[in-house]
Amino acid sequence: MAYDGGMAAPHPASWLRSLPQGLYCEPGGFFVDPLRAVDRAVITHAHSDHARPGHRHVLASRETLALMRARMGEDRAGETQQVLGWGETLRVNEVELALHPAGHVLGSAQVAMTYRGNRVVVSGDYKRQPDPTCRGFEPVPCDVFVTEATFALPVFQHPPADQEIARLLASVALFPERTHVVGCYALGKCQRLIALLRQAGWDRPIYLHGALAVMCEVDIALGQRLGELPPATVAEKHALAGAIVLAPPGAVTDRWARRLADPVVAVASGWMRVRQRAKARGVELPLVISDHADWGALNATIDEVGAPDVWVTHGQEEALIHAMGTRGVKGRALRLVGYGEEEDGG
Ligand SMILES: [Zn+2]
Ligand SMILES: [Zn+2]
Repeated sequence: MAYDGGMAAPHPASWLRSLPQGLYCEPGGFFVDPLRAVDRAVITHAHSDHARPGHRHVLASRETLALMRARMGEDRAGETQQVLGWGETLRVNEVELALHPAGHVLGSAQVAMTYRGNRVVVSGDYKRQPDPTCRGFEPVPCDVFVTEATFALPVFQHPPADQEIARLLASVALFPERTHVVGCYALGKCQRLIALLRQAGWDRPIYLHGALAVMCEVDIALGQRLGELPPATVAEKHALAGAIVLAPPGAVTDRWARRLADPVVAVASGWMRVRQRAKARGVELPLVISDHADWGALNATIDEVGAPDVWVTHGQEEALIHAMGTRGVKGRALRLVGYGEEEDGG
């Protein structure tokens, strides 16, 4: 597609640029997931390292805008907010813009920009495993693919999530008097765990730490069925024996968790693949459940979209760039600071 009416199409490196505020699409006049407040922002998803407050105009999926309003308040989620539907095309100045599902969390989108015959797709964060709480990743053929690289080392292989859920339920069956407290991030992982537990037949209440409730409410308002989710903070201690409690990762080993009945501490994250990391954090039951693509999925996706140029953002670029190089794909590290571990590193 690198052709336009007989004129050589300008390479995306000349019109999609890394500025201090973030990735800037010059012919469209907008930033993708800017790190500072800007005039026009296109947002891939509502995690706080990608969706920052205070932009003047924000374009995103309907779900992402709803999550942003819930997290940061109506007035900080963009002075004007514009929804772009899945697969719809919008002309923004000289660019054709479209959003395609990224399979990462509710509302998460890849941003496709076509300018004078060349298409760039910015993946945002993505995964290829099925997730009952969001639309599955849709590969979009392109000339430049901008990929995340959170788990871009061969050691990162994420087992099927339902296999990890089965391990959790086996532990609950083995220790019926103990509370299983599972650390998970508020947006995405929490709702995915609930949905996976329901799929696996767990129909008892799932108790929530207060910090997780708001994001679940947004999901429910958008039509997700998550079952009974009582607050863990007010529950009687005896009611929590044998129960599953979800809490932010930082809360599973603090004083809050110690009031639970002899808790089994679990954390659901791709980082749990690293055993020392689980051990150092006092995690008894590490669950390798990630909302990011693992090493195999990153490489398979790069091959599938067929872009001759791949730009790599937040994560471990070197190994991935080397691996794609052996397959004839040109890789380049996009050094954008500010994405990553903040909340979505797992
Ligand atoms: Zn991210
Ligand atoms: Zn994310």
